Order: sequence, then C-alpha cells, then structure tokens
Amino acid sequence: MRKKGKAIIVGGSIAGVSCAHSLTLAGWDVLVLEKSSEPPARSPTGAGLGLDPQARQIIKSWLPHPHLLDDITLPLSIDQNQATDSEKKVTRILTRDENFDFRAAYWSDIHALLYNALPQTMFLWGHKLLSFTNSQDESTVKVKALVIDTQETVEIQGDLLVAADGCLSSIRKTFLPNLKLRYSGYCAWRGVLDFSGDENSEMNNSVTLKVSEEMIKRMHEEAETIWIPELARLMKETNDPFLNVIYDCDPLERIFWGNVVLVGDAAHPTTPHGLRSTNMSVLDAEVLGKCLGKCGPERLSLGLEEYQRIRLAVVSEQVLYARRLGRVKQGLDRDGIGRGGFGLEQKEMPLFSRAPLG
Ligand SMILES: Cc1cc2nc3c(=O)[nH]c(=O)nc-3n(C[C@H](O)[C@H](O)[C@H](O)COP(=O)(O)OP(=O)(O)OC[C@H]3O[C@@H](n4cnc5c(N)ncnc54)[C@H](O)[C@@H]3O)c2cc1C
Repeated sequence: MRKKGKAIIVGGSIAGVSCAHSLTLAGWDVLVLEKSSEPPARSPTGAGLGLDPQARQIIKSWLPHPHLLDDITLPLSIDQNQATDSEKKVTRILTRDENFDFRAAYWSDIHALLYNALPQTMFLWGHKLLSFTNSQDESTVKVKALVIDTQETVEIQGDLLVAADGCLSSIRKTFLPNLKLRYSGYCAWRGVLDFSGDENSEMNNSVTLKVSEEMIKRMHEEAETIWIPELARLMKETNDPFLNVIYDCDPLERIFWGNVVLVGDAAHPTTPHGLRSTNMSVLDAEVLGKCLGKCGPERLSLGLEEYQRIRLAVVSEQVLYARRLGRVKQGLDRDGIGRGGFGLEQKEMPLFSRAPLG
C-alpha cells in the first residue's frame, strides 16, 4: 500500500481549508494550525466576496452536498464599474456585463461551508506557528507552535508544510526576508453594518487595524465633501469602521522550497480589484492536490515543481492585471483602458475562464 504523507497546513482561512480538502482527496493526512482561537462565528454581517465559475465548480467537487454552495451565494449579474466626479457629484457607468457569471457570498458562509465538511479533529485552533526546521534531506519538517490558551509550546512533525498564512506570511519571510510588499497607495474604508447585533464576525487579521475616534471624525467630514450624499450617509451609519491596508507584491520567482509550499495570499498578495484572491486560493489548492495526488509523497518535489509551474504563470499575470485595474479605477492611469487589450470587465482577466488545473 502507498505510504500516506502528512501535511501540516498553517492558516485555517480560505486557502487553508481549501488545501485541507484537496490534500485529503489526494490521500494525505492533514493537520491545520490556526492562531485564531476558534472557528469564526457564522454571522450574516461582514464583507463579501465574488466566486467565479471555475472556483465554484472546484468547491462543489469537495462538498458532500454541493447544492449548499448555490444556497449561500447570490448571482452577481452585472459587472459594473462606476466613476464618480467628486466635484460635480455625478456617477458614470464604465462597464456592464449582463453575462457576468460570478456569485457573491459572505466570507464567513464560504468558510463555514468548507470547514464543516471536514473532520474537526483536523484543526488545531489557537495554535500559532513560531518556527519550523527541515531535516537535512528535506524529507520531513518539524513545526514549533504556541498554544495560545496555555502558552505551552508544542512540536509537530510532518512531510510537507503548507503556508496558508496570508499576505504577511511569516513562513514566506524565512525564505524571502527582503521581499517588500507594495502598498497600493490607499486603504479601504470598511466597516460592519450591524444588522444582527453580532459584531464578532471577523478574526483578527494583521492588515486590519483599529482606528481612533479622531480618524473616524475626519473620515466623515471628508466623505461629505468627496462622496455622493448616499454613500456619505452610509459611512456615517456604519458601526466600527476599520482600516484595511491594501498590499500586493511583484510576482514571486518561486513558491516552494524543499518540502515547504506557499498557497493563497502567502504565495501572491494581490489587490482586490480583480476579485481574484479567494478564487486564486481555491485554484491553488485544487492544483496542489492534483499534483501531489499524481506524484505521491515519495516524489513530493516533482509534485511541487508541477504545482509551481502551473500556478506561478497564472497568478503572476493576474496579480499584475489586478494592479493595473486598480490604477485605472483609482484614476491614476486614465489612458489605460483599451490599451494592449486591457479592459475593465472581470472576464478580461488573463486566464480567467481557462486557468489550467494540471
Ligand atoms: C476573517 C477574514 C475575513 C475575510 N473576509 C473577506 C471578505 O469578506 N472578502 C474578501 O474578498 N476577502 C476576505 N478575506 C480575505 C480572503 O480570505 C483572502 O484574501 C483570500 O481568500 C486568501 O486567503 P488566505 O487563506 O490565503 O489568507 P487569509 O484569509 O489572510 O488567512 C490567513 C490565515 O492564516 C492565519 N495565520 C497567520 N499567521 C499564522 C501563524 N503564525 N500561525 C497560525 N495561523 C496563522 C491567520 O489567522 C489567517 O486565518 C478575509 C480574511 C479573513 C481572515
């Protein structure tokens, strides 16, 4: 019988739970370490994300009851980009795609759907990765984690370390200590409208910062002068606005080292303009699972090389396209639209509907 490999996944967000599915299907034993103390509350509040057809098909293939994905998502029938003239307070529609086949979902619903379809013994909540070491022949990896509740340190050994620890990945930093994230030039205003009274809908995320009363006051004043009145009012009525710093980075040259592999935002921090981040995480997981399933733990490096070959080409183009979309949408590249086949509709994203899966 084929030997089962053991994968340690660091990060229990979308990329982490997606890899837990795909690697289990590929025949690996999986353990997920997540520093947040418990699975996120399933609240109807919170920001939303857009799932493209390919990512939806993949998620459905992981679920015992695929129709549940349709139940928790809504069609986003129009890809609409608007430009607002802040002086005249006039809004103009830039694109509209009647066949835009994305579905919108709450992050927490997608997370819960994926998480609940996995054995909960697979997850160690409240475990923060501190460090890791590889054996000399890179056949095993030993992970040191802090149990946040007790402040104890535990050691866990596996054959593969999957870094699903997000945009600010500490695992990536050990290989690329000098990598600089690129601040996109703006922060998102985000907040949670209190529909349910439950304000604990999001885990702590280090790109998300609390803001002072003074900053909120200034934001409201600026909103009055910059935005259309409806949006300024919405901002005023939003409880607990917070700051979300937006980063991306130039495409990496590699996304695996020995038996350590990057997935999701750890592998390709990207701006949100192309609605890509979650979709990329799902595709990373699917391709990684397929490559490792084909090669088995005995030929792990071949599997990781194939994963890198397939995904790096796609995500590199998409990160740069999302960056360019952002510049156009921020009014920093007014002549950008139409140049070199560049368009604002989501379907113009390179390799949008035909990202290879291996
Ligand atoms: C709570 C939450 C809500 C979100 N909501 C939205 C949304 O509404 N819309 C949207 O478009 N995107 C949202 N995102 C971002 C979106 O999930 C990601 O951009 C994308 O799916 C890529 O996910 P990821 O798993 O690679 O990274 P992330 O979602 O950033 O997850 C990284 C995970 O790694 C964990 N982690 C980091 N360091 C360690 C460590 N040392 N030890 C253990 N665990 C560690 C973090 O706690 C986190 O759970 C959200 C992310 C989070 C965490």
